[in-house]
Amino acid sequence: MNVQRINYQKELEKILDRLEREKRVPKLLLHSCCAPCSSYVLEYLSEHFEITVYYYNPNIYPESEYTKRLLEQQTLISEMSFKYPVSFLAGRYDKEKFDEIAAGLEHIREGGERCFKCYELRLAQTAETARKGGFDYFTTTLSISPMKNAQKLNEIGKEVGERYGIPYLCSDFKKRNGYKRSIELSGEYGLYRQDYCGCQFSYESRKNKENIK
Ligand code: SF4
Repeated sequence: MNVQRINYQKELEKILDRLEREKRVPKLLLHSCCAPCSSYVLEYLSEHFEITVYYYNPNIYPESEYTKRLLEQQTLISEMSFKYPVSFLAGRYDKEKFDEIAAGLEHIREGGERCFKCYELRLAQTAETARKGGFDYFTTTLSISPMKNAQKLNEIGKEVGERYGIPYLCSDFKKRNGYKRSIELSGEYGLYRQDYCGCQFSYESRKNKENIK
């Protein structure tokens, strides 16, 4: 079967054009996995939205790494300049929720079923928080990574948005050289760039690769 791939960057641009025409600046709850990934997304979307960065990442292992990424995120927000206000909100470190969704999928390679459940866990929590907080949209920085499946992320985002009754802002932030720009911004702001995705399994897989070298 020939599955048609949607260009989510183009879809996002249509929404941004419409907001410009209507002279609207909606409130966006932006899930962020880390400061480096959020850097370009903040530079881009803060021209169009009033953003709250939502750090909800119970997948991150160990806890010291979770805290390190959280602090780096706060520092970046305080150092960048924005057209519209950007604030920060930390979620809970619900480690047991991640352990639950990852159970039985520990040995699946990065990019597989465990990751799809990991996207869903974080997006569902973001959608619920956005609805309760009266936001107009929610989305995530995750599509900036070449390691993340943007088609799947957007499918999950839309489904979760329908479930919670809040529009998901589609995206593929790696397009338009977004990933490259995030590396440049990471250099400019001297950001800590981790070398594994986040969970214990991605951490161990990175360690194993190091040992093979
Ligand atoms: S590799 Fe990354 S996306 Fe996949 S389950 Fe681990 S933390 Fe989540």
